[in-house]
Amino acid sequence: MMTTPRLEINLDKIHHNASTLVERLANQGISVTGVTKATLGSPEIAGALLRAGVRGLGDSRIENIEAMHRARVPASMTLIRSPMLSQVERVVTFADVSFNTEVDVISKLSSAAREANRTHGIVLMVELGDLREGIMRGDLEDTVRETLRLPNIVFKGIGTNLACRSGVSPDATNMAELSALAGEIEASFGLTLDIVSGGNSANLQWALSGADTGRINDLRLGESILLGRDPLHRQQIDGLFTDAITLIAEVIESKRKPSQPWGEIAQTAFGEGTPASDRGYVMQTILAIGRQDTDPCGLYLPPMLEILGASSDHLITDSGCDRVPVGTELTFQLNYSALVRSMTSPFVTKVIKP
Ligand SMILES: *Cc1c(COP(=O)(O)O)cnc(C)c1O
Repeated sequence: MMTTPRLEINLDKIHHNASTLVERLANQGISVTGVTKATLGSPEIAGALLRAGVRGLGDSRIENIEAMHRARVPASMTLIRSPMLSQVERVVTFADVSFNTEVDVISKLSSAAREANRTHGIVLMVELGDLREGIMRGDLEDTVRETLRLPNIVFKGIGTNLACRSGVSPDATNMAELSALAGEIEASFGLTLDIVSGGNSANLQWALSGADTGRINDLRLGESILLGRDPLHRQQIDGLFTDAITLIAEVIESKRKPSQPWGEIAQTAFGEGTPASDRGYVMQTILAIGRQDTDPCGLYLPPMLEILGASSDHLITDSGCDRVPVGTELTFQLNYSALVRSMTSPFVTKVIKP
């Protein structure tokens, strides 16, 4: 018997999702950087993305990039989070390009690259309203100037990231602004930008709407490839699989119990109150999976199940009329939060299906 909990990773479906998006975006003149940060740098998943035609791989963690490097994944690697000063040596050694917003960091990357006798590519991230990383528009030209001055640094282009911290949607207005900034920089400095990276999976709706995509020539896609969903509304993307990665958990208790607790009620283990609605007796099914294994709120449940509560180790559900025997394995689809938590949990086995 296979161990539970486990993630089952279907490489064929991931490949299908990736190649479908690569093809659709190619029609708009946009390439795809495959984002591996939710996969702990899995070389098998990286391989599926590369076979699907992504132009390179992006990850927010240098550890994951190093893991792919050790596995000899043959791809250009971009660190898509601003490098920590404490990691610049590792960044210039293992990443070809990094996303940056701080001149101090770029300057240290330059020194480290010179020391290592390498060159390192820089994409400058621009703030367009979501208020995560990004250079304010008025500071961009100065930052470009300073970047161009630094030895062993190659200025590759600009990018932006939306729909993350504040949920600001990529649209014709903010994307046109990024295109305009690309044009202004090229005119001011007499150069051609390699990369104008418009954003993440949340950009797909805009990119595939038939709108003018301007100068945007790359998107960085993770969630849409792995989960087949559009992160703006979490709807399935037409023609993609939402079950390329599933989580399997095992039932450890199945009993008819009252829906209401008894005794004097204080705080729960996680500090939340539990005014569960009184629905008389329920068929209570407990699965051996909890907050140490996933984000219980991020699971898509089989139709008969409803979550009643979760602890670090238990998922307590109402299984309706059905008694689900102990030992039964149940399969869940995941949202991004649940996926990341399960991928990074040492308690969850990862099973790759070719
Ligand atoms: C995570 C991340 C992405 C990928 O986002 P998805 O929604 O998973 O496609 C792209 N760019 C940056 C900067 C990120 O941090």
